[in-house]
Amino acid sequence: MPGLNKGDIIALKNGKTAKICSKLGEGGQGSVFLAEINEKKYALKWYHKGTVKQPDIFYRNLENNIEQGSPSDAFVWPIYLTVKNDGEFGYVMNLMPNNYKSFTDFLLTKEKFSSISVVVNAALNITNAFRELHRRGFSYQDLNDGNFFIDPKTGDVLICDTDNVAPYGEALGIAGKARYMAPEVVRNITAPDVMTDRFSLAVILFRLLFLDHPLEGKRTLCPCLTEKLEQKFYGVSPLFIYDPYDTSNIPVRGVHCNVIRLWKYYPKFIKDKFIYSFSQECLHGSQRRLTDNDWQIAFTRLRDCIITCPCGSETFIDLKADSSVCINCGRKIPRPPVLKSKKYAAALFPGNKLYRCHTIEDSDDYTEVTASVVRSKNRPNVWGLRNLSDNTWNVTLKDGTTTEVPNGKVQIIVNAHKIDFGNCIGELEF
Ligand SMILES: [Zn+2]
Repeated sequence: MPGLNKGDIIALKNGKTAKICSKLGEGGQGSVFLAEINEKKYALKWYHKGTVKQPDIFYRNLENNIEQGSPSDAFVWPIYLTVKNDGEFGYVMNLMPNNYKSFTDFLLTKEKFSSISVVVNAALNITNAFRELHRRGFSYQDLNDGNFFIDPKTGDVLICDTDNVAPYGEALGIAGKARYMAPEVVRNITAPDVMTDRFSLAVILFRLLFLDHPLEGKRTLCPCLTEKLEQKFYGVSPLFIYDPYDTSNIPVRGVHCNVIRLWKYYPKFIKDKFIYSFSQECLHGSQRRLTDNDWQIAFTRLRDCIITCPCGSETFIDLKADSSVCINCGRKIPRPPVLKSKKYAAALFPGNKLYRCHTIEDSDDYTEVTASVVRSKNRPNVWGLRNLSDNTWNVTLKDGTTTEVPNGKVQIIVNAHKIDFGNCIGELEF
């Protein structure tokens, strides 16, 4: 296997050249090098001869993906392709910035998320990236923890190993990684596609929140995982650890500690999404699986009920209950005012934010802030909603009068009844 060496000059299809600087890593299919193109540093993945099953189709697929461009900034997408060299080839991508840490390290608790809203942001970013990928007609085919890199302070996500991404209906011969593959792929009934991506996404999201595996409980504890058992646990008869109808695979104390600790903190509506996603109906019925968009709405709603307790820790608020208990200090927190719009209900607690999806009809943008809940400096018990959008709000007060709140100004929450954000109305519930 010749491979590449420091100083090698590699011709790219666009006529430029890449100079190999050093080796960054080694994988099953090839190696990744630090490379320089026009004095800028990149990563170059080089496939070893014989490691790609259908090299011509694979090469053409990479070429097509480069032409189409990345569906989302979250993907570390191929940007240049090399010229073939004695049957070997590679592609160039951006380097992974240092602040992104491997999801695998979070699962091994070598890395920690700085708060629960960071976890939820990561879930939103992963879900949105796959939504955009699927909307562009691609499927990823090989989702597993090794593909994800997350900033532990922000929840920003980068997804790598995008070389198996292919248009719907085209499989590149990759089956995926065990434990993440859909049961029908494990059983070899189907090739990976968008429906099997949906299953793998649900596994990734579960592991992100609970740091354990949704199908690994009491039943899967065995001294040696043989191929036959792997087929059983992940393919033929998978069983969710919190299946409400069959408790034979429940998490085991001392083994599945993360999920036992974390599961109880999360609101029922989000746990129900996982109970549904890993129900027998969805494990074996691919058409019923939640879409990326379903998940995006669910995680936006989940973020809407996170507040920062006076103890400094974030906690979940049950928007339907009179009070909630802080998951960190155990303090009882009375339900804060809630802003209800068409799709969402958001807790209005100091520090919380509203986004375009809350204040603009039919927007699903969960990233651009349009309002924030602030505390009065002189009277800390008085909370206001600051307009950070370009629209002037029309607020109906509790006494029936109306007032205008332009950008930068604050509406005292307790006085408000309804807010017309411009093209979406929110109602306050106390
Ligand atoms: Zn607390």
